[in-house]
Amino acid sequence: MEFRDLKAQYTAHRTELDAAIQDVLTGTRFIGGRQVTELEEALARYVGVKHCVACANGTDALQLALMAWEIGPGDAVFVPDFTFFSSGEVVPTVGAVPVFTDVEPDTYNISPQSLEEAIRYVIRHTDLKPRAVIAVDLFGQPADFAAIRAITDQYGLLLLEDGAQGFGGRIGARRACGFGDIATTSFFPAKPLGCYGDGGAVFTDHDEWADLIRSYRIHGKGQNKYDNIRIGMNSRLDTLQAAVLLEKLKFFDGEMEACGQIAAEYTRRLAERVKTPVIKSGMTSSWAQYTIQLSDEGTRDGLQSFLRERAIPTAVYYPKALHRQEAFAGCLLPEDDRPFAHTEQLCRTVLSLPFHPYMETGAIERVTDQIAEYLRLVG
Ligand SMILES: *Cc1c(COP(=O)(O)O)cnc(C)c1O
Repeated sequence: MEFRDLKAQYTAHRTELDAAIQDVLTGTRFIGGRQVTELEEALARYVGVKHCVACANGTDALQLALMAWEIGPGDAVFVPDFTFFSSGEVVPTVGAVPVFTDVEPDTYNISPQSLEEAIRYVIRHTDLKPRAVIAVDLFGQPADFAAIRAITDQYGLLLLEDGAQGFGGRIGARRACGFGDIATTSFFPAKPLGCYGDGGAVFTDHDEWADLIRSYRIHGKGQNKYDNIRIGMNSRLDTLQAAVLLEKLKFFDGEMEACGQIAAEYTRRLAERVKTPVIKSGMTSSWAQYTIQLSDEGTRDGLQSFLRERAIPTAVYYPKALHRQEAFAGCLLPEDDRPFAHTEQLCRTVLSLPFHPYMETGAIERVTDQIAEYLRLVG
């Protein structure tokens, strides 16, 4: 069994994907081919925003957003403590200070209450200027953007949506990557919309920021790439990745539909035994992960080993709170109310199960039967 079976997807759509790739090989426009612009237009339409700017990966996408906002030394950026490293990494990359906040115990997304406390702390006790909030759509469920927007409005902060896991999710009819002042996503192969290498994109309705990001991603170009008017990056999406994504976008909604059904089946079989994902009313997840919670660390680790011995791969996203990462040691604020109770609890108890849109009922049954068996043994 695969944790995320990319081969099943390729096998199901091999003819179209091979043709799209062959087309790029024949055309030999490996950088800046027409597929890149076509993809940007298709993604902007899909999300419902004015601009999509493709780039090299989801981490660069976040960094490009911070660069467009001229966030740097002396600035504070608020980041959930429970997320992938990149969400926090980009803040010191541009010279600003990441200020971590706790997450909600049910959705694992940034806690509005903890966020507000962190903002007040920075205002009262530091010389830093609060500038932006990075809200992550963790495991596929959009963050609580109504509550977060109220806070960013109140304190005059910019809102950056890290939709690396959220692309394809919705709140009501509105799609993820349309909630931030700028939003970003990643096309890493295992993400909801994945390519065959690295890729990412930035989304915004703001013309000026979109222009800046288009410049920053190609060495701060002005009129052309040999006219350099600012220090930028080399962060383009290549034509092959764009061609693959254009094909995959055609069947993406069908995959999202299948993910919803597989998640419902998992939950039906597991809800009485473990804590299953909580999707808030009005929210639609893109199911980047199907993550359960066990009662304690020993049970979680025991279950993971038990499943591994039975050739069922699982993953712990994430075993360590961001503020505990050695890389952030020099960046921390002097005092704070860390560790955060919810983040710490999640790091000890979460387990992500095999999940992808091509998963068959037999496989779901095998996973859930083994979980039931393990819990009977340790029960
Ligand atoms: C994967 C991921 C990223 C980074 O994306 P890359 O394309 O791997 O650079 C950023 N944030 C979150 C929440 C992610 O899951």
